[in-house]
Amino acid sequence: NKKIVIVGGVGGGASVAARVRRLDEFADITMFEKGPNVSFSNCSLPYHLSGVIPNADDIVLKTPEQFKNQYNIKAVVNSEVISADPQNKIVQVKNVKTGEVTKYAYDELVLSPGAKPIMPTTIKGIDNENVFSVRNVVDIKKIQKYLTDKKVADVAVIGGGFIGLEVSENLVEAGKHVSVIEASSQVLQTVDDDFAQLVHKNLYDHGVNLILDDGLSAISDTEVTLASGKKIKAQAVIMAIGVQPETTLATKIGCKLGTTGGIAVDQHFETSIPHVYAVGDAIEVTNRLTRKKTRLALAFPAQIQARDVADHIYGRKVDNRGVIGTSVIHLFDLNVSSTGLTEKVCQSEGIDYRCAVVIPQNRVSIMPNTSPIFFKLIFAYPSGEILGAQAIGQSSVDKQINVIATMISMNGNISDLTHLELAYSPWFSTAKNAVNMAGLVAENILNGEYPTIPVTKVRQLVEKDAFIIDAREPNEYQAGHIINAVNIPLSQFRQRLDEIPTDIPVYIHCQSSQRSYNMVRALINRGFTNITGISGSFLELSNY
Ligand code: FAD
Repeated sequence: NKKIVIVGGVGGGASVAARVRRLDEFADITMFEKGPNVSFSNCSLPYHLSGVIPNADDIVLKTPEQFKNQYNIKAVVNSEVISADPQNKIVQVKNVKTGEVTKYAYDELVLSPGAKPIMPTTIKGIDNENVFSVRNVVDIKKIQKYLTDKKVADVAVIGGGFIGLEVSENLVEAGKHVSVIEASSQVLQTVDDDFAQLVHKNLYDHGVNLILDDGLSAISDTEVTLASGKKIKAQAVIMAIGVQPETTLATKIGCKLGTTGGIAVDQHFETSIPHVYAVGDAIEVTNRLTRKKTRLALAFPAQIQARDVADHIYGRKVDNRGVIGTSVIHLFDLNVSSTGLTEKVCQSEGIDYRCAVVIPQNRVSIMPNTSPIFFKLIFAYPSGEILGAQAIGQSSVDKQINVIATMISMNGNISDLTHLELAYSPWFSTAKNAVNMAGLVAENILNGEYPTIPVTKVRQLVEKDAFIIDAREPNEYQAGHIINAVNIPLSQFRQRLDEIPTDIPVYIHCQSSQRSYNMVRALINRGFTNITGISGSFLELSNY
């Protein structure tokens, strides 16, 4: 019987074990986990802090006993694999409670050790008892106990990525005053800075003290000091500035690392050492859009890689397609989802691209509880290949992003998107879904029928005293408008053509780009050659 040894018993590890069992009823499967739990939902950890998951033990999805009884898999907890001898196919396992080391033979060794939170040792106070990170059930219990025991009121969360923001949301829900400190100019690097502004506003609106462009320099019992010298009240600190692949064991064994620092693997997730495989957050993967090596610490890639490894070991054909990076996060009353490349990445990779931004309602606007979807589609120019998308809204915007992720996976073009037939009833969407609309706008941009500039350029336009038309109705204009914009509503412009200059550039915007698009097209059809639409309008922000 094949002896399969797995290092790490959570995202990837538990998936390898389960898949192997489905392929081979007689395999001898042993999964070593250095922590006290296997198979827990890492992604659910932050939700214990708010009480959404009241009992932290519920985060553990399967116990070693269940693994034994249901799958005949040995899940051995509190056991760290400290070394391996690939020549003789033996691992050394240390019982972290007793210190006892035992040897264990394998035929195939699979590493799924994950990634560990980055804890910069140069920061004064980083080892204080009030400093935490979130990786497992032990961590989340420790944080909850500390906050309760010490009656903590103010928490500083360092880092505005997924984990930092999810933790912040849950701490706010628990009644804490939360400061988020982010060293770059925006949170969530999975969206571009224009869309990140919506997230920033959402955080401010929910009482989060968001500090951008500033880093952590020191921690004390009562406050954190930032690089700028600013001091922020905080009796507890959560470090969430990112993760680094856990490569200690792999390096010790002699597995090669890739250029990004993750464990290098081949098409079948085999490392540089035969019969030693690696999956999950610890490995280096290929971005299928840029063809560059990257790392992606997300649950789905870990799980599908795990299945692929098991399949490969059992002689099945495996097709490692690389990753595109698809994610979603719930934050207070907003959902933020994205897939593929951002504008920022396109720029750094030298990819010629264009964007279509649309802001349709999530369902037919006369239905109850409609809300806007801010949707950005990024496509290659001039090929029209779909490169990425970002969606933010109160509705389930992962719906739209999942469509785009599917299209990218199938090498879709914007022309595929325009004709994509999707389910519709007024409860669920508009007849033309946001993704269809974005495809149509993208096609217009590609054909040169819709000259646009992004909304992020508006400030520069205002500074240059450019001629901007606000195509909304007067009451909307009066409620708030771009400085010096001229209000010529779509409903009136045909009677007011003489007010529209023909000798200087004219920019048109509205609430969601729909009315301005119609005016742009009408003016171009009337012979104007100086018209540009402002793509996407965040004036809707005031409606949140
Ligand atoms: P893990 O699941 O981290 O498992 C690795 C395990 O290996 C660890 O338990 C570790 O103790 C053990 N280990 C390491 N070295 C050894 C050793 N030498 N011997 C024995 N055991 C060892 N992803 C999403 O897609 N969506 C989300 O919403 C999301 N939310 C998240 C929220 C949080 C708070 C966290 C921490 C992660 C989140 N993730 C999310 C990421 C997702 O959980 C990971 O991508 C996934 O778990 C990776 O699986 P893995 O097996 O590589 O690592």
